[in-house]
Amino acid sequence: MKVLVTGANRGLGLALVHSGLKKGNIIFAAVRSVADKHIKELQNLKESYEGQLRIIHMDVTNEKSVKQAAEAVKLTDQYLDVIINNAAILNEREKTIEEVDLNAVLQAFDVNTVGPMRIVKHFLPVLRIGLRQQVAETQAIINISSEAASLTNAYSGDYPYGMTKVALNMLTEKLSVYLQGEPVEVVSVHPGWMKTAMGGDKAPKDPNDTADNIYRLIENGWKSSQFAFVDDTGHYMDI
Ligand code: NDP
Repeated sequence: MKVLVTGANRGLGLALVHSGLKKGNIIFAAVRSVADKHIKELQNLKESYEGQLRIIHMDVTNEKSVKQAAEAVKLTDQYLDVIINNAAILNEREKTIEEVDLNAVLQAFDVNTVGPMRIVKHFLPVLRIGLRQQVAETQAIINISSEAASLTNAYSGDYPYGMTKVALNMLTEKLSVYLQGEPVEVVSVHPGWMKTAMGGDKAPKDPNDTADNIYRLIENGWKSSQFAFVDDTGHYMDI
């Protein structure tokens, strides 16, 4: 498979790159900065998995950069099979409504919600090339969401994060409807609480295990119920 991963330099993104490479996939690792110190681990992986890893420069908040990246992928590798919208920020943590900085809320929407929209807008045509050529066995758009998007389990604080992930889940549902009739699966995935910069040291999950589970999901599908929102083992999440 040819897989695009955003936010690929660290955390779950880096784990998704490594897990995908181990499985023999071609991975497009999209990063906001290509400075050496930012992508050191990706460069090491590039050496270990010769010919399988392309590092591409892309800021998900910049439509021009997303468009250019999509054109570059089309030029070098013709098509894509899977898009994993992973890049996100968690800002204004635990602030109350009186304290929250509204510009930071807009910034979170720009990265977490409009970012994946930009990606799908420009990369869907690249995905469709694979469909037309009938070379792809699995075609999927995976939006990495969060249990913080659950309306049933809403909690106080983290305003921007929860709101942006609910809106991301709506993007998933809208794309599922739009793509009905085309063999592209679309799903929001809660990856679990993971040990990353975002999740912190106390988190119980290793992002590498989550990444392996996500590839299993892509290969085997999930128990889709009324809404396309599952955890990394494919079980339905509360909306
Ligand atoms: P990290 O904070 O560890 O990594 C976030 C990644 O997103 C980094 O690679 C970062 O790049 C990238 N990013 C941020 N802004 C942009 C941008 N404008 N353009 C491109 N890339 C950007 O997060 P995690 O790995 O923990 O999270 C991965 C996903 O999992 C996210 O969608 C998150 O919401 C979700 N999630 C995580 C949980 C957890 O416990 N960790 C729990 C539930 C969901 P840079 O290094 O340049 O900043």
